[in-house]
Amino acid sequence: MSQIMLNLELQARAIELRQLLQRASYAYYALDAPTMEDAIYDALYRELQEIEVQYPQLITADSPTQRVGEKPSSNFVSVQHNVPLFSLENAFSSDNVESWQERCQKGLESQAFLDSVCELKIDGSAIALTYEHGVLTRGATRGDGTSGEDITSNIKTIRSIPLRLNLENPPAHLEIRGEAFLPIAVFDQINQERSQQGESLFANPRNAAAGTLRQLDSRIVAQRRLDFFAYTIHFPSSSAKESGDKENLLKISSQWQALEFLQQIGFRVNPNKKLCQSLPELQEYYDHWSTERLKLPYMTDGMVIKLNEFSQQENLGFTQKTPRWAIAWKYPAEEMPTIIESVTVQVGRTGTLTPVAELRPVLLAGTTVSRATLHNSDRLTELDLHIGDTAIVRKAGEIIPEVVRILPELRPKGATRFVMPSHCPECGQAVVKPENEAATRCVNWECPAIVCGAIGHWVSRDALDINGVGEKLVRQLVNAEAVRSVADLYELTSEQLQKLDRLGQKSADKIIAAIAQSTSKPWSRVLYGLGIRHVGSVNAQNIADNFPNVDLLARATPEAIASIFGIGEEIAQSISEWFRKETNQNLVQRLQEKGLQFVSAKNIEQAIAMNPNIAGQIFVVTGTLPTLKRDQAKDLIKAAGGKVTDSVSKKTHYLVVGEDAGSKLDKATSLGVKCISEEELLQLLESNPQ
Ligand code: NAD
Repeated sequence: MSQIMLNLELQARAIELRQLLQRASYAYYALDAPTMEDAIYDALYRELQEIEVQYPQLITADSPTQRVGEKPSSNFVSVQHNVPLFSLENAFSSDNVESWQERCQKGLESQAFLDSVCELKIDGSAIALTYEHGVLTRGATRGDGTSGEDITSNIKTIRSIPLRLNLENPPAHLEIRGEAFLPIAVFDQINQERSQQGESLFANPRNAAAGTLRQLDSRIVAQRRLDFFAYTIHFPSSSAKESGDKENLLKISSQWQALEFLQQIGFRVNPNKKLCQSLPELQEYYDHWSTERLKLPYMTDGMVIKLNEFSQQENLGFTQKTPRWAIAWKYPAEEMPTIIESVTVQVGRTGTLTPVAELRPVLLAGTTVSRATLHNSDRLTELDLHIGDTAIVRKAGEIIPEVVRILPELRPKGATRFVMPSHCPECGQAVVKPENEAATRCVNWECPAIVCGAIGHWVSRDALDINGVGEKLVRQLVNAEAVRSVADLYELTSEQLQKLDRLGQKSADKIIAAIAQSTSKPWSRVLYGLGIRHVGSVNAQNIADNFPNVDLLARATPEAIASIFGIGEEIAQSISEWFRKETNQNLVQRLQEKGLQFVSAKNIEQAIAMNPNIAGQIFVVTGTLPTLKRDQAKDLIKAAGGKVTDSVSKKTHYLVVGEDAGSKLDKATSLGVKCISEEELLQLLESNPQ
């Protein structure tokens, strides 16, 4: 893409971001009814900021990056602030905080860490209080930073705001700033009442506080029990000089002293402050409060770090919007916006096609996320996803990140809608989408993705737990067509592995031994390893306990399976369907021949107690028997607890020989396997003590 194209795209993006942020900002500040989460606003805001830094010519005077707040649309009298109320620059990582400290040090030509005060960032509404000769004369909202609204009568209802300062000889003029907020319990109560009255709910305590402060009826404000923490003091130096308390006032030369002074003169100051002398101390404060904050009775959305010395603050001054000497370090968000660069489709072990969004990497709850699941085609339709869309991604707890919603306002022009492929991306065969299911599936059981998935599942820890057969090796084995089903694993040789993966002989031998060892894993694990849909490891154990061998399970009706406590109809149906398929029956047969356990150990013990000659012994039947059909003979052996396989190996205990026996007899003779007639078999069966 040419540079010009790129610039044009960025320009279009900047315009759209600005419009979106302006609308959100109006809803947030003027209407106290936000339309998006703060973290999402912040991320989109940062994106706009980055574009504007790259192309300063794109900056407009009304860009949200150039303005503090919003001019409120209200009935209160507008008042001019003597000193503007600024916003704060945001930090989202310790790196951001470190660069801020470095910038401050550079600005002040200092090599040493600049002492900083950490305060909790209270999620409320900033207000400015004017005291004349110690008496509260005006309370105003922040508004757009230079002018706010006169809300004095409402401010007077807040009990933690003194109407008269605790100063013997107060100065002619003093301005105090701080945060008015609603305790969480009060916020919940207000929302409950609003919901009962069918009114719209406040999105968060901050908006509830701002909305309350701008209530026209002060009696309602009084009922709502707003609270206040003071954090800034402004006094014209002439005022301090005139004041009888000039000693005290002039002594204040740092934020730390200011906080103490505020407390002395009658304000509530948040007690959770700390004077820090190093970056690790800032980090410690942040880490501590990122969890402890959940125990506080009010909301905080980060911490504020301010250089302690006023002289340093004065030296650094302000940008158009924020003080250079302070920064707000926000807590990580669990939802963030980012751009969907493409969508890939993964094929799972059961053939389910899962669309996955490939994202522009984004920091989410502390980790960088570049992919998120889109679940299935129904979800895609719901989202109406287009490539290039801005999506909100969420990561809650351990769950894989997912796309929660799309911001269609930010869709680039000409963006194409993503549609699920009609053919499997792995094997190219047509996919199906059953009407009653959300999932689209590949139903080609030879599809490499399904084969790899099935083998990966078979070797996994809760299934056959075969060490050394990792994802990469499985892929190689399947691609080389050395393995087409899990049964093929048992025919692999060490030499094959050595050639394939440039494995050393020792490692290859180890893997072959691990595969062989898996034949002793119990029936429940084998059942789980078969990867039947909906059969998890706990269900497999439950089913294996109730159906002590595979024949009983394969023949059982779905009703019989569902009669097991804890097994639902869906699972029962899925098992029954699985065993009905010929390919699966063949797989079971082959695995039995390889010596895998399809009978529970308990069942074998019981059978041995009943018929020690047959139980646990491996039989092969060959040739035409005089009276029994071969299948009848096999059933009798299995019913007595024996195993029947198709080919003769060292592991075979008995070859039951009929007329016209062919190569199996030769092999058995050469391996020294005991050969018996039908009659001898019947004798063994009859020796059953029962
Ligand atoms: P801010 O809230 O990020 O930070 C500045 C404010 O922090 C101050 O005005 C003050 O009120 C407060 N604060 C709390 N404790 C403080 C302390 N101890 N010391 C100093 N200040 C303290 O900035 P802002 O300009 O008020 O608002 C911008 C933020 O508002 C954005 O980051 C965004 O999260 C939110 N916003 C959201 C939407 C939306 O649609 N959701 C729209 C606009 C703005």
